[in-house]
Amino acid sequence: MAKKEFKAESKRLLDMMINSIYTHKEIFLREIISNASDAMDKLAYKALTDDQVGMNRDDFKINITINKDARTLTVSDNGIGMTEAELEENLGTIAQSGSLQFKQDMEQQENLDIIGQFGVGFYSAFMVADQITVMTRAYGSDTGYMWMSNGADGYEITPVNKPTVGTDVIMHLKEDTEEEKYGEFLEQYRVQGLIKKYSDYIHYPIEMMMTKSRQKPKPEDAGDDYKPEWEDYQEMETLNSMVPLWQRPKDEVEQEEYDSFYQDKFADYKKPLDTLRVSTEGNTSYTALLFIPSQAPYDFYTREFEKGLQLYSSGVLIMDKCADLLPEHFRFVKGVVDTPDVSLNISREMLQHTRSVKVIARNLEKKIRAELQKLLKDEREKYEEFWKAFGPQIKFGTYADYGANKDSLKDLLMFTSSANEKGTTLAEYKERMKEEQPFIYYAVGDESAQLGKLPQAERILDQGYEILYLTDDIDQFVMEALQEYDGKKLKSINDEDALPETEEEKKAAEEKAEAAKDVLDFLKESLGDKIKEARVSKILKSHAVCMTSDGPITIEMEKSLKAHGQDMMGFKAERVLELNPDAPVFAVLKSAVTENPEKAKTMAQVLYNQALLIAGLPLEDPAGYSDLVCSLMV
Ligand code: ADP
Ligand code: MG
Repeated sequence: MAKKEFKAESKRLLDMMINSIYTHKEIFLREIISNASDAMDKLAYKALTDDQVGMNRDDFKINITINKDARTLTVSDNGIGMTEAELEENLGTIAQSGSLQFKQDMEQQENLDIIGQFGVGFYSAFMVADQITVMTRAYGSDTGYMWMSNGADGYEITPVNKPTVGTDVIMHLKEDTEEEKYGEFLEQYRVQGLIKKYSDYIHYPIEMMMTKSRQKPKPEDAGDDYKPEWEDYQEMETLNSMVPLWQRPKDEVEQEEYDSFYQDKFADYKKPLDTLRVSTEGNTSYTALLFIPSQAPYDFYTREFEKGLQLYSSGVLIMDKCADLLPEHFRFVKGVVDTPDVSLNISREMLQHTRSVKVIARNLEKKIRAELQKLLKDEREKYEEFWKAFGPQIKFGTYADYGANKDSLKDLLMFTSSANEKGTTLAEYKERMKEEQPFIYYAVGDESAQLGKLPQAERILDQGYEILYLTDDIDQFVMEALQEYDGKKLKSINDEDALPETEEEKKAAEEKAEAAKDVLDFLKESLGDKIKEARVSKILKSHAVCMTSDGPITIEMEKSLKAHGQDMMGFKAERVLELNPDAPVFAVLKSAVTENPEKAKTMAQVLYNQALLIAGLPLEDPAGYSDLVCSLMV
């Protein structure tokens, strides 16, 4: 049988495992046991709908065998097993999210310390073993297969005779060295301790034949000088308590146990940011154990990511990712829901229409929202971490479905602003508003640092008003959806009426516009279709020009559509060139229009290009622009 090489990606991970100097090598056992438990979940689920399986829940077991002479530790299960193709696929490649994510993170930060932090999968056994043999027979197949690998140089698969369905993972432990005593994993009490520590909640019994010692009974005829004698005996012991974490009383579970459960089950090497337990009695009774991850999974903002909670019915796993239990805007939440109100052999299609699922989903939505609000109020830093990871999802939820959820989400939103660079909520902004301040202001652009310097921002900031800095593409859509917050309208600083005018100011502005008419007409004529209009600006204070837009598409929207390659439709903002009639350059332009039209034309082009630059729009002809500026200089 020819040796096969591991896929390149797997090889790297494997190398890291083999050469690991990590001190928590012990986590390999948890990984192998969790795989066994998954395999039994799969077969147990099949058994619910398929009588052929002929197994009961109570029939599933994990067995651990220690063989000191052979120096092997074996984990056996009677789960679903693997076919030859699955062996190849699952153990020759980095199979799953956990391992893959782990590898990616390792590549980013070459920091071996994170190994201990969970979800590293099957290969972690190579931290302690120099040879691994997997004997497996898939449910429904009558041949077994053996997969064997010494690590780096590949693996072999051969057919074997295996009488029962399921999988044995046989780990041959490395030789002890000065620093590392791998033999410790052959000590039954050490193994027992590890199971208690990491795998206690696994809901199948984990059994091990334990060698124990007891006093021999005292013989009838023992004399006065009888010394008690000891003998060894063997006893099968179940090492885990099997009570699911979410069914244990709240005050009996340590945060560490939740963390470990989360990291193991949801393949995250980081601890969760927040843990939430919910239980309700009543028409629909359920318990839920929910987690907010501290980072977004690598595929979170892609189509591949599947939301959902694990659904159990009285301790039996029914569905791995029940999407209906979570609203889109909280799709980052991970966890488990256990309810006796869903029958065991319900189909996925029917589940969607099950009333109790809907009721639970509605309840959970409220609880999650309340929890986030609590974090925001009591644990600001945690909330900021949450916001960094999942803020975009909340924003998305605010405007998705035509803003159906905006009211319930608006108080979770955070933006940086001229008053707070770490982030402010709308409520906090409102709290700081000046009494006469008419609107909540926002500016849209790429970077907060630049937004405060926009020509349009000056007059707002000079009033002592705060401006929200919207630097995320989706922020404008959030503003569109919200329109107002708690009675105060949200206003772009580009809007002409962002600051109210007195009658006098209005009149003065009209006069200025009238006086500038010839200049404006000239600009429109020489710039042609490039702009929709040239106008005397009400939003500029000391700066000479800026670009705004008319119509439904703003300049920022145009930019964001372009950035996402969605400008095929040719969506473009209708550009409006705004001029400040009080800026010195305006007077120069005005006289040029009558006295030196050639120069005036050049100035028109230069001003137009400057406005593009300030707005962060690309110049149509940068070299030409540069020439024009030079021509004005000489
Ligand atoms: P993960 O558990 O995150 O999928 P692992 O590296 O731990 O990744 O395991 C890889 C895959 O190998 C599993 O997804 C599963 O398909 C398969 N596998 C591992 N152990 C077993 C087992 N005891 N029984 C059946 N399949 C297994
Ligand atoms: Mg695994």
